[in-house]
Amino acid sequence: MNNKLDIIPINKWYKELTDKPVIIAGPCSAETEVQVLQTAIEIAKIPQVKIFRAGIWKPRTRPGSFEGVGAVGLKWLAKVKQKTRLLTAVEVATPEHIRICKQNPGSVDIIWIGARTTANPFSVQELADALKDCNMPVMIKNPINPDLSLWVGAIERIYNSGIRKIAAIHRGFSPFEPTKLRNIPKWEIPIDLKLQFPNLEIINDPSHISGNTSYIKEVAQDAADLNLDGLMIETHINPKHALSDAKQQLKPTELATLLNGIKYRLAENKNPEFLNHLEQFRYQIDSIDQQIIELLAQRMSVVENIGMFKAENNVTIFQIKRWKQIISSRLKLGKDYKLNTDFMRKLLQLVHKESIRKQKIVLKIKNGN
Ligand code: PEP
Ligand code: MN
Repeated sequence: MNNKLDIIPINKWYKELTDKPVIIAGPCSAETEVQVLQTAIEIAKIPQVKIFRAGIWKPRTRPGSFEGVGAVGLKWLAKVKQKTRLLTAVEVATPEHIRICKQNPGSVDIIWIGARTTANPFSVQELADALKDCNMPVMIKNPINPDLSLWVGAIERIYNSGIRKIAAIHRGFSPFEPTKLRNIPKWEIPIDLKLQFPNLEIINDPSHISGNTSYIKEVAQDAADLNLDGLMIETHINPKHALSDAKQQLKPTELATLLNGIKYRLAENKNPEFLNHLEQFRYQIDSIDQQIIELLAQRMSVVENIGMFKAENNVTIFQIKRWKQIISSRLKLGKDYKLNTDFMRKLLQLVHKESIRKQKIVLKIKNGN
């Protein structure tokens, strides 16, 4: 698969989708016809929002939670389309869901594949097969585990089924230990995805990353700063009584305030003075990086000499006293230069690990094995 996926950009999916960023909002789950319609009517008053989301089949971690209203929800979405200007989107997890969407024309404009489904290539392939010859736009959420190739694989499977209206949704990754956020953003992963597929648009889902309304703004601003292409934000007419993800859903008025508060910077500035200045900064960075790499190479060559010297004198590779001394002196120096201690510690550990690896090689060569 080459990196030039022949993808149709979101602004060509439907005539309503001309603006960037693409804003998607709606409840985690469709619960009742009234809740869906009231939420949609309020959301439609927010000009930035173009797509209404609502889950009707809910993949829940534990049985016994609300699992969605099922096919009847499509009738409510059809009403949303009749009564508002909004396009509609739902999550599908099985070929049967796709079949039901196809049997209900006029209810769903866009489908998305959820994080739990993306994590399973068998399920994604079944969905891809069910989508053959269907012109439906598909958004693919990242898998719950931080595995870029699983995400890429899901995108490729859908692409190979002939779908060309494709976008990705970044909803963060399950943490091993509880963290302040429900899911860790790991921004480097969507950035890597963008580097692999430069024309694939990525929508950020700050609701599932945050898990709590307090952090949504912060995460959405990070997404805007990283120049992601849109937002999907869970919004409910009465969040307190939501049957799923109650803690992370905003009221429509809160959504409007949040969207108006996000600062969008220019992804590119064509002003020659700006470009000139930026170029100068980049030269500085290039030159400094080159020096860092040269110094690292020099350090490693000294490490090899030490390794040889220790081997000749029958001394162990790792000496805890020396390591402690390195850590404390370098951390202090880093602090003096206002470098983050956590960053410094990780950097030192990485350099130390590589130094030990090098010395082990020297020892092996010396011992002739
Ligand atoms: C959802 O969008 O409501 C949902 C279930 O999300 P995710 O697949 O990201 O967990
Ligand atoms: Mn949800």
